[in-house]
Parts: sequence; C-alpha cells; structure tokens
Amino acid sequence: MEILVIALIPLSLLLLGAGFLVVAQVSGFMQSAFFNQRQNFSNMIIQQYMERITLAQGQLYQRKRELEGLSAQLSLSNQELGSLNEMKSKFLSMVVHDVRTPLASIRGFSELLMGKKLGEREEMYLKNIVSSTDQLGRLIADLTDLAMIEAGKLKMEKALFDFPDMAKDILPGLSINAQKKNVELAVNEFPYGVLVDGDKFRLSQVFMNLVNNAIKFTPAGRSVEVFFRREGKYITTLVKDSGIGIHPSETKKIFEKFYQAKYQKDAKLRKQGWGLGLSIAQEVVRAHKGDIGAVSPGLGKGSTFWFKIPAGG
Ligand code: ADP
Repeated sequence: MEILVIALIPLSLLLLGAGFLVVAQVSGFMQSAFFNQRQNFSNMIIQQYMERITLAQGQLYQRKRELEGLSAQLSLSNQELGSLNEMKSKFLSMVVHDVRTPLASIRGFSELLMGKKLGEREEMYLKNIVSSTDQLGRLIADLTDLAMIEAGKLKMEKALFDFPDMAKDILPGLSINAQKKNVELAVNEFPYGVLVDGDKFRLSQVFMNLVNNAIKFTPAGRSVEVFFRREGKYITTLVKDSGIGIHPSETKKIFEKFYQAKYQKDAKLRKQGWGLGLSIAQEVVRAHKGDIGAVSPGLGKGSTFWFKIPAGG
C-alpha cells in the first residue's frame, strides 16, 4: 500500500505539469486572437474615419467653389449698386435744380398778382398756390441737402458766432408760426454770450426744424417751451412740446431719412412732411461734433427734442 502511494505521487505531479502547459498554451492562443481582433477593429475604424475625411474634404472643396462663385456675384452686384446709387444722386440733383427755377417764378408771379385788386375767390386761389409752392420749396431744399449729404458735399462754413443771438433772430418768425396754429411758444433760461465755432445757417436750420416740428405736432391750445443750458463744454437746446408724443420704439428711428413715425395715427400731419428734416439735422449736428436726440413719455404725452454742440465763451 505504501509503495502504491509513493508511485502515484510523481504521476500526479506529471499530470499537473502537463495540465499547466495546456492551459498556458490555450491562454496564449486566446490572447493573440483577441489582439488580432482588436487590431482589425482599430483598422476598420481608422479606415472609416479616412473615408469620412476624404468625403468632407470633397464637400469642403465644393463649398469653397460655391462661395467663390457667390462672392464674385456679390462684388458684381456691389459694383452695380454703386453705379445705380451714383445715377440716383445725379438724377436727384438734376431734378432738384430743374424744379427750383420754375417754382421760383410761379411763386414770384403769384405774389405779383396778390398785390392786384382781386375777388375773394381769386385771392384764396392765389394763397393756395403760394403755400403749395412754399411746401414744394421746402421739399426741394431738403432734397438738395440730401443729395449733398449723399455725395459727401454738405460742407459746413464754420465761423465764430453768438449762439443765443442766432436763436433770438429766429424766434420772432417761429412765434408767428405758433400763433397761426394757436400754440403758445415760451422761451426759458436764455443764456448770453455763448460763442460757437460753427455754421450759423445750418445750426439755425436745426433749431428751426425742431421748433417747427414741435408746433406742427402740438394741437391748438397747447404749448411749446424752449430751454438753453450750458453743460460742460456744450450748449444744449431743448424743445419740449405737449403734442402727440412718440412711441418708445421710434425715438431713434425718426432720425433715419424718410422715416415718419408709424404709431402716430394722424395721416394728415404725416402728409405735410417727408421725414427728411431730422435726418438732415442729425447730419449737421454730427458735423459739429455734437449730438441730437428725442425723448417722449409715450404717445399722446408730448416729446422733448434736444441737440448739443461744443461752445466756448
Ligand atoms: P417730417 O416732419 O417732414 O415728416 P422730420 O424728419 O422732421 O420729417 O420728422 C420725422 C418724423 O418724426 C415725423 O414725421 C414725426 O413722425 C416725428 N416727429 C418729429 N418731431 C416730432 C414731435 N415734436 N412730436 C412728435 N413726433 C415728431
């Protein structure tokens, strides 16, 4: 019995060793199969990426060519737009010039006739002719300015002048306009001896525009107030009315050319203008390194228009 046990020990050791060998070989084989599988999988993914990149490169090239085509078209359209714009500006100044002369003679002859003894009806007709030619004259003047702005030719003739004096000279004419409409025009905080280096004619045009607008957009029986303020190195003019007011979304837009406030319902008032005055005023004020703006608490609640320009003195 002891001899049998002693003989079985080496045999079992032998079997155990053989078993280990088999397991090691099988696991080595499985490892290399797994490694090959992973390698193939990686290759496949790389291949797929390469294909995608090639496809994207093709698409990119196609897009680039399309973009080049579009950009060529755009530069052609830009050239066409540029020459159309130039033609429009030339046409505008030609029309303005050719209308101004006959208009002046219509007005002149109408005024001559007004001095004659006429019937009531004829006199009324003549008044209508004169006021219509005046309205047309204002449009022509605005269009002339617009044509000059667009051609970059709106030059400021700068010289030193007394700003309050300029306003004082204009105010009587503006008061007549206010009286005609039964609107009260009051002037407050009038300063003295404020010198401005600027274009007197153009700045008086801005002042007149703001006050005349305030009178125009204020119903009869209400008032317009004008204030002047020294603010640092600026002189600020404020025109406050108690008129139809402006919707908050439009206080900036009204300074664009040909823009008339859309929320204001009064079509009759709109027809009296062309939406050019404020855009020209803005151009003039900016040419003086100043600023212009409008504030309003809302429709029906009046507005305040202001402009400020550098001043000395
Ligand atoms: P126009 O008065 O000839 O239409 P403007 O450029 O002077 O042109 O004004 C543009 C618009 O701004 C006007 O049509 C009007 O809608 C608005 N506006 C200007 N001034 C006033 C004001 N004082 N109160 C209310 N709205 C105003």
